[in-house]
Amino acid sequence: LALTGCGRSDSGSAAASGAASGGSGGFAKDSLIGVALPQKTSENWVLAENLFNTDLKAAGYKADVQFANGGVSEQQNQIQSMVTKGAKVIVVGAIDGKQLGTQIKAAKDAGATVIAYDRLLENTDAVDYYVAYDNFKVGQLQGQALLDGMKAKKPNGPYNIEIFAGSPDDANAKVFFDGAMSVLQPKLDDGTLKIVSGQKSFEQAVTQGWKPENAQKRMDTLLSANYGSTTLDGVLSPNDTLARAILTSVKGAGKPNPVVTGQDSEVESVKSIMAGVQYSTINKDTRNLVKQTISMVNSIQQGQKPEINDDKSYNNGVKVVPAFLLPPQIVTKANAKEAYANDPTLSKLTQ
Ligand code: BGC
Repeated sequence: LALTGCGRSDSGSAAASGAASGGSGGFAKDSLIGVALPQKTSENWVLAENLFNTDLKAAGYKADVQFANGGVSEQQNQIQSMVTKGAKVIVVGAIDGKQLGTQIKAAKDAGATVIAYDRLLENTDAVDYYVAYDNFKVGQLQGQALLDGMKAKKPNGPYNIEIFAGSPDDANAKVFFDGAMSVLQPKLDDGTLKIVSGQKSFEQAVTQGWKPENAQKRMDTLLSANYGSTTLDGVLSPNDTLARAILTSVKGAGKPNPVVTGQDSEVESVKSIMAGVQYSTINKDTRNLVKQTISMVNSIQQGQKPEINDDKSYNNGVKVVPAFLLPPQIVTKANAKEAYANDPTLSKLTQ
């Protein structure tokens, strides 16, 4: 696997220990912590907003938690304003990880520590840490679920599939895609799988802005151009919002329900999985991701190096960013009950 460019640089996940650059000499407990979140493209971001507000304050900090629904320039302004207000740590879930270099550098220059949250900040040496679910693993689990789901319906291939990716400005999108293709490519090569449209590159598969209407439109076109009398067995979808848009398109075209993957454990998708429509999702409990981030903030506040568990996977184009990666979990109807047992909202849907 190539070490060049941005994103994940290999498939290993070494247990590295605390050694990481960045951090500061500690700061007062009632300091300001900034959290810059992207657009509300999926439920996990809304959950994160609530949790950061509640839990940072509970830990004794002042919190400035912002969404940038207006886009990149709004997010740039929000981060700049956090710097001006003297935030000691700035947590960033970027809309476009390549376009915040100036603001991140300003944060560094002002002595703040910068944590990339869920999405990597690219082409900048001013990012100190990364905290996320293991994105490559998410893709691998999605690819495997697609194969398993199709096999359960029809024991022998070949299987006709289409593939979708997330928004290209989000560093995660390519990593999810690469993870999935690491599982699917050998099956394309040996003829078990066929992408009937021939649209198999990341560039062809992307969904700008993670917008469901874009995925639905593309699926409409793929169906009408390629699936007149051909059966569509499965669709690789990078998340739940897009999975539901894809399923809406298929239903609208009057076609049988294919196996469709997802991610995020959104309420509507968990319902769909329990009803036997969407096949799979990924459990990336936002509560644990926010908790891990705040534990990083606490270490920095005390002048200590935060714990990391990966020091080689995330090359952002300029540096390898020390990371703490949490393990994602695949969820289908078969394990939903146990997967969501400690989630008060989702456990009600799996009874
Ligand atoms: C997150 C996914 C989410 C997507 C769209 C990604 O960066 O990792 O969980 O589905 O953004 O919001």
